[in-house]
Amino acid sequence: MRLVRGRVFGVSRAELLRWAAGVFFLWVIVVGGCRERELARTTPQMGIKPEFWVRVLLLDDVKTCVLKVSSSLAILDVEANRTVPMYRGGQVGVPTAVEISAGKITIGGRIFSGGEVIIWPDAPHIFNVNGDDYRGKLKLILNSDGSSFDAVNLVPVEPYLAGVVGAEMPDYWEPSALRAQAIAARTYCLYIKKRFGSKRGWDVKRTAANQVYLGVKAESAQTWKAINQTHGEVLVCRQSGGTEEIFPTYYSSTCGGHTEDSKHVFGDSFEPLVGVRCPYCRDVAKPSFFFWPTAQFDKTEVTGRLLEKYPKLKASGEITNITSVKQSSYGDFSRLTLVKLVGSAGKSNFLRAEDLRLTIDPSGNRLKSTICQIINIDDKWAFLAGRGYGHGVGMCQCGAQGMARKGKTTNEILSYYYPGSKIIRVYRDE
Ligand SMILES: [Zn+2]
Repeated sequence: MRLVRGRVFGVSRAELLRWAAGVFFLWVIVVGGCRERELARTTPQMGIKPEFWVRVLLLDDVKTCVLKVSSSLAILDVEANRTVPMYRGGQVGVPTAVEISAGKITIGGRIFSGGEVIIWPDAPHIFNVNGDDYRGKLKLILNSDGSSFDAVNLVPVEPYLAGVVGAEMPDYWEPSALRAQAIAARTYCLYIKKRFGSKRGWDVKRTAANQVYLGVKAESAQTWKAINQTHGEVLVCRQSGGTEEIFPTYYSSTCGGHTEDSKHVFGDSFEPLVGVRCPYCRDVAKPSFFFWPTAQFDKTEVTGRLLEKYPKLKASGEITNITSVKQSSYGDFSRLTLVKLVGSAGKSNFLRAEDLRLTIDPSGNRLKSTICQIINIDDKWAFLAGRGYGHGVGMCQCGAQGMARKGKTTNEILSYYYPGSKIIRVYRDE
């Protein structure tokens, strides 16, 4: 833009400011209004079968939280098997403390005798915990020693996805990429629920350890559209028994040029997860995500984190050497898959490179991928010539957007990143 003595293309600065203020005011009305309508819309699928509800661990082992609801609600004390209505009338919108008192869950001073308490808001079925809105119900589970509790959001699949798709992918991306993200996220959560849910009181975490879930604040008209247009659709592939079933549809931000075989990263094998060349993410990813020159970590810090996470390494002493043992080679770059750790006591151990990455940098924001070289520099470990962002298994999210920009359909994107899979619908509109 050419600026000439306070005028932009012949418009005075004051005029420009008035115009900008007007646009901002309109934006507040339009966007604010849309957000209100979005929040007021009641939560779908509240009557769907239990197998299509997701249990999301919101708070793990806490002693207190703050609950707020914008509608009347019921509270079910599970052990006593009775429903106690609360927050009717004047209590709506009032922040209420959830605490532990004498080994029992208490809500606003009222003591519940059961080990589990379910908070069930009326339509639009939204509650607020520690400042964030979520859809569905809230289950509080008292831990075995009665000193803390877990908070689990019970939410049907589609409203769960509404809190995931916008958190995992920018909502202004191409509709076919958003639909691919919705189908991958739906399949992934149902797979994790099926595989692990029966062994614990929740199905998925709300973090990137599974997939990021931010509740209502992640919702937008675009993400709801992608979810509704793919309602009930999941990916299946032929499995060892000959049947077609869902599989863990992993995905990550930027593969760096080739996706990775799941068996090298997560240790599981599925035909659609063997890895494919990806020429699509380079033009979409931020340059600093596609190529990252270096990440350095103090050696004592690295040893401390490794020994804390893997107590068996304690016999090794200080980690004095980390070397690549196996890698997947893709022409001009390769991804580390297995590393050897040598300790000051002379013992060596092997670790998957992805496990090393997330132990050293649990956020994954600095040590962005395992496409890199490990260099030993004095008191630091340096990871050089980095490429890509994330574990690299399954759909490359930036690649999905790259394909969508080239006019590829949702089906073409998913068939490309999960070869041998197909889309089926497991439930219909209510
Ligand atoms: Zn890619």
